[in-house]
Amino acid sequence: PDLTKGQGPEDAITQAAATGTGPLVVVEHVHKHFGELHVLKDINLTVDRGEVVVVIGPSGGGKSTLCRSINRLEPIDGGRILVDGKELPKEGKELARLRADVGMVFQSFNLFAHKTILENVTLGPVKVRKQGKQESEKHAMELLERVGIANQAAKYPAQLSGGQQQRAAIARSLAMKPKVMLFDEPTSALDPEMVNEVLDVMTGLAREGMTMIVVTHEMGFARRAAQKVVFMADGQIVEENTPDEFFTNARTDRAKDFLSKIL
Ligand code: ADP
Ligand code: MG
Repeated sequence: PDLTKGQGPEDAITQAAATGTGPLVVVEHVHKHFGELHVLKDINLTVDRGEVVVVIGPSGGGKSTLCRSINRLEPIDGGRILVDGKELPKEGKELARLRADVGMVFQSFNLFAHKTILENVTLGPVKVRKQGKQESEKHAMELLERVGIANQAAKYPAQLSGGQQQRAAIARSLAMKPKVMLFDEPTSALDPEMVNEVLDVMTGLAREGMTMIVVTHEMGFARRAAQKVVFMADGQIVEENTPDEFFTNARTDRAKDFLSKIL
């Protein structure tokens, strides 16, 4: 199977998200400071099951901090964040397990350099999900097949192109069977000719019903895959809109000004 072709909500990787009720991610009155710097200022955001939300906005606006807060890589100072109805605990085994519900893909791939691609993908399921080695390897190979790099499984990250490494990072996240996937500028470190191979995988995931929060300025992806665009600047959500409206007829001057600079 090929991730660029949607396989319907019956697909195994989307099952986890499809079983519950209510929104999958709720961000409520969230505040975050770095020292004196107020980086998230009363952020409110709801992401429904199967919804794809694109987060866009100027550098320094708080997009990465928001992603990292949802995954508890950053503690928050106020408000709360629920994933599938549960607040993430501050630490411990429970945190590792619940954090695995939130997959994250970074700009810089973040693969383990001294492990093969296959080992990168099986590590989490074996350690955190307590899956057997054989089962993990079988699932990992299926995922690598789906992101189009099964033939790279025995190689080390440095032997792969940037686009292949990022697809491996996506497979590694999917191996944990996350309920929601966060992507923080997943294509901005890539050479232009590799951007589409990563966006195609992400578009396929969206079509299958994966719930996704994607920080990106890729307008084509937003229009193809997202139901909602959130424009973030200066630690606040300035505008929430449909992709079509946002890119052709943004409501706020902040967004219009930003768009005039990137388009
Ligand atoms: P974006 O992803 O939208 O570019 P970030 O969330 O990375 O924005 O950053 C928001 C603000 O927080 C910026 O002013 C940045 O310098 C600051 N910041 C981010 N991470 C840290 C940190 N670990 N310590 C101090 N300041 C930080
Ligand atoms: Mg960022």
